[in-house]
Amino acid sequence: MERTLILIKPDALQRGLVGRVMSYLEDKGLTLVGNKMMQLDDSLLHEHYAHLVDKPFFKGIADFMKSTPVIVQCWEGQECVEVVRKLCGVTNAREAASGTIRGDLGMSVQSNLIHASDSLETAKVEVPRFFKDDELFSYDKKNYEYIYAPDEK
Ligand code: UDP
Ligand code: MG
Repeated sequence: MERTLILIKPDALQRGLVGRVMSYLEDKGLTLVGNKMMQLDDSLLHEHYAHLVDKPFFKGIADFMKSTPVIVQCWEGQECVEVVRKLCGVTNAREAASGTIRGDLGMSVQSNLIHASDSLETAKVEVPRFFKDDELFSYDKKNYEYIYAPDEK
């Protein structure tokens, strides 16, 4: 099964929406396999947002992402990476579809509640960027037979 990395961003912590954000993923039927709180620093943010470091708004993103600790989670499921991206909605929360985390809960491009790996290739880099092997867990979810058909597990 695929695994993906998410960060629940400082705006969700400040607004008391951590549980709401997690609920979209839990309700969908995904499995939480890693969970912790971290204070991000410039070094990690430069690595994580390497595709944005040359943008004029990078300092704003870095200051925002350092403004409180973040929740770091790894989730597992069939086609989990794409499923979670769809649940997040597009980057600009004002344009994100209703029913998505950003579309339902946000109004900002920057303060858009959640980061999620954008491809399986990215997830394979981002999960070990934030989690050591012994911080990730594998376990049987007893409700899998109701979440997936037998040939989908
Ligand atoms: N971001 C921003 N302004 C922009 C583009 C991105 O503040 O014009 C922030 C926003 O928080 C976004 C993050 O930088 O979630 C990473 O940008 P990316 O393009 O990777 O969007 P995502 O994959 O998070 O949808
Ligand atoms: Mg991205």
